[in-house]
Amino acid sequence: MPWNRPLMIVLLAGLLALTWWRLQPADDEIRRSQLLMGTVVEIMAGGRPAGQLEDAVDAAFSEMVRLDHLLSSYNQDSEVSRLSQSASGGAVSAETAAVIGLGLEVARRSGGAFDLTLGRLKALWGIDRENPVVPNRQAITAALAGIGPNALTLNGRQLNKHDAELQIDLGGIAKGYAVDRAIAVLRERGIASAAVNAGGDMYLLGQRPERPWRVGIQQPRQKDAVLETVQVSDRAVVTSGDYERFFEKDGQRYHHIFDPQSGFPARGCQSVTIIADSVALGDALATALFVLGPQEGLRLLDQYPGAEALIVATDGSLHASPGWTKYQVAP
Ligand code: ADP
Ligand code: MG
Repeated sequence: MPWNRPLMIVLLAGLLALTWWRLQPADDEIRRSQLLMGTVVEIMAGGRPAGQLEDAVDAAFSEMVRLDHLLSSYNQDSEVSRLSQSASGGAVSAETAAVIGLGLEVARRSGGAFDLTLGRLKALWGIDRENPVVPNRQAITAALAGIGPNALTLNGRQLNKHDAELQIDLGGIAKGYAVDRAIAVLRERGIASAAVNAGGDMYLLGQRPERPWRVGIQQPRQKDAVLETVQVSDRAVVTSGDYERFFEKDGQRYHHIFDPQSGFPARGCQSVTIIADSVALGDALATALFVLGPQEGLRLLDQYPGAEALIVATDGSLHASPGWTKYQVAP
């Protein structure tokens, strides 16, 4: 991975502060973390003998490593990288097809705000690099050429690229899918109480031993301050924010969620939190709503019954979907 070490440490410190519920594991729970998919992944599990918990958590991490190899754009040999390198696409695994299929659906419904084809734009900005710079207009226009929801067609497992130069980037959805799979592995191994957090992409399984799961949502402009607390069971809680990965230049913040219309970081929000049935969907929706901003974003959410959102707009105002309150609890 093209990570620069000091930068990585700064980023990780930031990510650790993000949305995590600062829980201490109880005696009958374990908590493990690993560096994966460019973030710190933490898994808590409880309610079973320690040996069984350890084995299940190991298996869940292995599953996420496998998916990183399949879906990451940093890994040159991943299935997704090979698609990007190919002239016109090709047959993909059932899993990759499922993730891309969900991504394309959110891309269409969001009018292209969510976009799996902005790999070239992401590389151009290089937000994760040591000395990122604001690219010039010409380079941005070139990176946006030929991208969008219609630039890829998926027919069963056959993916067609309509432009040889198209670079696929699943960064807005792959981590979410990996968390869903980690939870599936934990369930298969008889674990009924667990939480997986991949840098703000979370799933809370069952309840903690004798207690519900509670998640603190971070105040985007105040590190360590909790904006709201939600209580959930068998749900994904996903936050996308402009405070995770960004650089500042001339007083302007440049973060990692791009508006495909402008080619610049999206301007409408500071953070978006989605509660949904699956982390993959929550991940894609959090990114899509972030780009759309509060009004259009909440309109898109109407198409997803069962999904709720809390948006912190650029001016700091809060915008929640009608069903959000059912998850709210006093901190
Ligand atoms: P994080 O990965 O930090 O949790 P997101 O889920 O919002 O945050 O994903 C941001 C990543 O998604 C970016 O690093 C990039 O790979 C990709 N991305 C950026 N803008 C978009 C967009 N408009 N649509 C889809 N993916 C995007
Ligand atoms: Mg996302």
